Amino acid sequence: RLEDTNQWGEKIMETLNYETKINVPPEMLQQQNNDKIKNVFTHARKAESQIRLLSIEERITYVSRVKEVILKSYPSIINQLQIETKKSRTDALVSEIFSVLDYCDFLIKESKKALQDKSVKTPLMLMGKKSYMYFEPLGTVLVISPWNYPFFQALVPMMTSFVCGNATIYKPSEVTPLIGVVENVLSAAGMDSHWIQIIYGDGKTGATLINHKPDKIFFTGSVQTGKKIMEQAAKLLIPVELELGGKDAAIIFDDANLERSTSGVLWGALTNLGQSCTSVERVYVQEKIFDSFKALLVNKANELLQSVDQDGNADIGSMTTEQQIKVVKEHRDDALAKGAILHTGNNWDGHAANIPPLIFTQITPDMKIYSEETFGPVIPILSFIREDEVIQDANNSSYGLSASVWSQDIERCQRVTRELKVGNVSINNVMLTEGNPYLPFGGVKDSGIGRYKGIIGFQTFCNIKSVLIDKNSSKIEANWFPYTQKKYHYFEQLTLSAFRKNPWSFVVFALTGIKLESHAQKLKR
Ligand code: NAD
Repeated sequence: RLEDTNQWGEKIMETLNYETKINVPPEMLQQQNNDKIKNVFTHARKAESQIRLLSIEERITYVSRVKEVILKSYPSIINQLQIETKKSRTDALVSEIFSVLDYCDFLIKESKKALQDKSVKTPLMLMGKKSYMYFEPLGTVLVISPWNYPFFQALVPMMTSFVCGNATIYKPSEVTPLIGVVENVLSAAGMDSHWIQIIYGDGKTGATLINHKPDKIFFTGSVQTGKKIMEQAAKLLIPVELELGGKDAAIIFDDANLERSTSGVLWGALTNLGQSCTSVERVYVQEKIFDSFKALLVNKANELLQSVDQDGNADIGSMTTEQQIKVVKEHRDDALAKGAILHTGNNWDGHAANIPPLIFTQITPDMKIYSEETFGPVIPILSFIREDEVIQDANNSSYGLSASVWSQDIERCQRVTRELKVGNVSINNVMLTEGNPYLPFGGVKDSGIGRYKGIIGFQTFCNIKSVLIDKNSSKIEANWFPYTQKKYHYFEQLTLSAFRKNPWSFVVFALTGIKLESHAQKLKR
């Protein structure tokens, strides 16, 4: 219980040094053995009942402590994030630290109200009864995360799962495991080590964890892995939430402010060096401003400072993985071979991790940069003439994660927004729905299944239990046995008066109800 863990205050006063990692041998980043995983589930199942006993206020207090630990120790968290991901310092601060703190604040403010029992309407037909929804834990939730935002993708789902009362097992990506970082934060906040357990390992470890039948899988990662997980989960009937990739479009109409839209698109395409599920990966510019938009975007891209910096001055960092560098090279070479024109980054050798922005025009639909997720600093610019044409082209994608629409005419932006087959749209801004923890997040089509964050995001981690309360009495319900011809007649009249409305229907309904009730009570067996 909360009062037993009073040492946390002292712990957070120490500077947490994440470069002194918890001692995890390198082989632990590969496949974990089944016995160890079995043990993890045994601990989780025991932890479930402890967490259920914590009141919602107590769980929220732990979230506040986690927030305070992060506030005290974020410089060393950023150091470790930069070592593993090679992102710029400002990207790490804003997208991982600020966003997590902001989301913790949301949980602190909203969890109690979101998770309290809700009374719902009980129709006249069920007179005398009361109806409620209880938001209960699911049990043990498995969270599997990708390498691009390793702190955010850890803390946001695991803290939501925890406030909802679940035991949580978290498997980070083997590429950016941040070994020890999350454990240190949770333990400094006084949390029991079995409430949220962190298991390092690769995809095979993820698959073994699934075989132990968690009550829910919350997966963020690629479409390819998402499909494998869903297939495995289907056999075991485990519910899944899938947060997958994207090929997000930015649509810029000719009345949009050029200065703002070019800067917005540049940031949206290049934050985290484009290694973000909601990166702008297709830029549609209306014909009249196409040349001036492209020229300004190229100028601004050329001015960006690229470094894995210590002082916060760099705009963009480096690529995180060798594998992703290969994808960017493949997409670049494919585009050039098919006739695209490259306006920036001609000096990139195809191997270095600090890939400069690669802005392309003359795009054709057969190019990989048109249809496949690049997950790197590639910006294809396409032109369009009409609104209906750009909507059709933007929707012509297997993905449906986010989009942005830029125009002075807000009505037009809203009209286009309604037509886009995606989960999130920012108008005259970019990737900003993610900046508001009150907005749910998720995609359609190949971008995933389900929503998290926002008030409805709590439901992702809950068993919503429907409860109907009746009085304890000797009364027999009219719809219980025995059935009789007379009952049938009364039910027929009730059905017709309830749903075929006329001025007398309510009176007929009430009188028939009384007759049915009296008949049913006489029939008691
Ligand atoms: P990935 O699919 O390769 O790996 C994600 C995680 O799944 C890793 O932890 C990995 O070890 C694990 N895994 C791999 N195979 C598994 C299996 N068979 N069973 C269980 N777990 C398995 O993805 P990645 O390369 O780490 O991340 C990049 C992808 O993630 C991109 O496509 C990106 O768009 C997507 N992403 C989506 C969101 C979102 O919220 N929609 C956010 C960030 C990243």
